[in-house]
Amino acid sequence: MFLRTSFFLGFAAAALAQAPAPAPLMVHQLKPNVYWIEGGGGNSGVIIGDKGVIVVDAKTTPAAGKELLDDIAKITPKPVNTVILTHSDGDHVNGLASFPAGITIIAHENNTKEQEKALAVGGRGAPPAGHPPTQPIAKNKENLKIDAEKIQLLHWASAHTSGDLVVYLPSEKIVFTGDIIATQLPDPLIHLEKDGSSEGWITTTKGIAALNAEQFIPGHGNVQAKADIEKRLTDAEAKRAKIKDLVAQGKSLDDIKKEVGDQPAAQGRGGRGPNFPTFTEVVYRELTQKKGV
Ligand SMILES: [Zn+2]
Repeated sequence: MFLRTSFFLGFAAAALAQAPAPAPLMVHQLKPNVYWIEGGGGNSGVIIGDKGVIVVDAKTTPAAGKELLDDIAKITPKPVNTVILTHSDGDHVNGLASFPAGITIIAHENNTKEQEKALAVGGRGAPPAGHPPTQPIAKNKENLKIDAEKIQLLHWASAHTSGDLVVYLPSEKIVFTGDIIATQLPDPLIHLEKDGSSEGWITTTKGIAALNAEQFIPGHGNVQAKADIEKRLTDAEAKRAKIKDLVAQGKSLDDIKKEVGDQPAAQGRGGRGPNFPTFTEVVYRELTQKKGV
């Protein structure tokens, strides 16, 4: 998740100014050649190929992006040649500013569009101008071989954002989900302003749960098992169905929130920023404001 407007960024900057020095990133090994690195924004994946390194998501700030590269350099002397972005939020993209020029940056084509929009708006949250995606993905399933590593890129529907890309390593049975799964919240986080969708989230998470995989690295939080993903899915499906029922009965948003036990929304950095809409608010808005849902 990331705050986009300068008004919101004012809050975030104030929170940052008072925050202690960030904790160092934490490196976790999943397989002999696959790691995930925690901290400094969204989780990052690191896949060591035969000649180079593939990174999934690049942290929030140039400093965190550099720390990520330094940590990778402690694991392997091979250069980082490729970055795959799971979505366009700044806490997964903006650390790219510290990455070498000329690397391949793979992202869903809608992610590219969202970044172009954010660049045009400008401000502190804007993505690094020198590192736009170089390889947009338009297909819902793309089988790649990068540095001898089999990588499947998957997109089922708009979910967290319109440009979500799930990174699946079939040989290692590992999935990098991006923020479709983010465990700091019990409910899915949907960015309506980036055309995310609760219905698309359910379609997408069904797709993720059906993959032949054992380790699911979320955008935020610890490694999940398939049963964890399935539980998030059934919980969200049940909640969405209940909200739909209550909307059909003509209940108000406040009443619906009480009835479903609305969970607190994700907060801006440092807990001082504005809240994102809760899952209940998102579903309510979708059902009452959009046609054909
Ligand atoms: Zn995130």
